[in-house]
Amino acid sequence: MKKRSLRDLPPQALDGKRALVRVDFNVPLKNGKVTDDTRLRASLPTIQYLRDKGARVVLLSHLGRPKGGPDPQYSLQQVVRDLETLLGAPVEFIPDPATGVPTTRRLPRGGVALVENTRFWPGEEKNDPELAKVFAALGDLYVNDAFGSAHRAHASTEAVAHLLKPAVAGFLMEKELTYLGQLLSNPKHPFVAVLGGAKISGKIDVIRSLLPRVDGLLIGGAMACTFFGAMGLEVGDSLVEPDRIALAKDLLATSGKKLILPRGAVIAPSLERASEHRAVSADAIPKGWAVFDIDETTQHDFRARLLRAKTIFWNGPMGVFETPPFDAGTRAIATALVEAGKKGAVTVVGGGDSVAAVAGIENQLTHVSTGGGASLEFLEGKELPGVAALEDA
Ligand code: ADP
Ligand code: MG
Repeated sequence: MKKRSLRDLPPQALDGKRALVRVDFNVPLKNGKVTDDTRLRASLPTIQYLRDKGARVVLLSHLGRPKGGPDPQYSLQQVVRDLETLLGAPVEFIPDPATGVPTTRRLPRGGVALVENTRFWPGEEKNDPELAKVFAALGDLYVNDAFGSAHRAHASTEAVAHLLKPAVAGFLMEKELTYLGQLLSNPKHPFVAVLGGAKISGKIDVIRSLLPRVDGLLIGGAMACTFFGAMGLEVGDSLVEPDRIALAKDLLATSGKKLILPRGAVIAPSLERASEHRAVSADAIPKGWAVFDIDETTQHDFRARLLRAKTIFWNGPMGVFETPPFDAGTRAIATALVEAGKKGAVTVVGGGDSVAAVAGIENQLTHVSTGGGASLEFLEGKELPGVAALEDA
């Protein structure tokens, strides 16, 4: 279902109005400093648009996982300075939403306020209607731009959306829904997905949802080792999920043609002994060794398949990319996506570690999802509560 977007609202719906905007300011911090402001920057188009239209902008977000109450370590006060710099405008801080209404009323047109971490209030994660009322009092309309939190039914993402009208998607949310939605509804073929990372178990629903839609599903990462095990191959000390071997066998039996496994792997006795790494074919993994990356042959095979694709979705690194030289396979996939994009393919990356793996080349890809868990749940075909609660277009 298509959702109403901020861009669909007429000027009079915004001018002078208090726009309560759920953003995703869940940024990494070190010693009170923001170490990566990607998420702050990602919310700027929505905030600046609202300011340009004369709205008073009241921002809501969670930060980290505070345990049961206010905790300075998780205070959003720590992002105020960075946000002010990015906006080129002052930001009022609202330490307690229950007493914040006067501040929101005092904001000038185009002014910005930021409310303290929503998770400081126990009602947030319980989707408490009373807390939602407190939040709703801070705005005249609701905009959700926090796709990364939309898979959770929380007071600031779900309950509050029912209390304010209009309740619409911000630009970042809209972009996520457009590109991820396209993968599910009408992808251009050939549609090739690349899945990697640590475990099959966390991605089985995505695999099941994507298999009927894709022309090929390339498997890398430790996930591939569970498939190797299912094929009866020796996997040595590789990270496998023994309790998923049966499942992998089942997938191979039913969708074997679409599942493309690595032809070979880069192995080492352990991560500590990375320097002893060497490449072997998938059927020659010795006991006492473990797979840490796809090999060069596989890189070439995957690249060739990606260059023929018109739509690509990628989630999960091909190896232990945090530890060189086991980053080579993951890098090769990133490069292949960029190349495929230049040839006209739509390239979408989603997931936590995969997003880290494409740092620096984001603007050479069609879309890099900022919502790790949310993007996977979306692709599993699940309805995200924070999206469902918004008005239909
Ligand atoms: P994402 O966050 O992109 O969804 P995951 O969290 O599923 O990805 O997996 C990422 C992790 O998988 C990385 O920390 C990486 O080191 C690990 N990984 C990838 N390949 C292997 C492998 N062959 N053996 C062990 N760990 C691996
Ligand atoms: Mg991860």
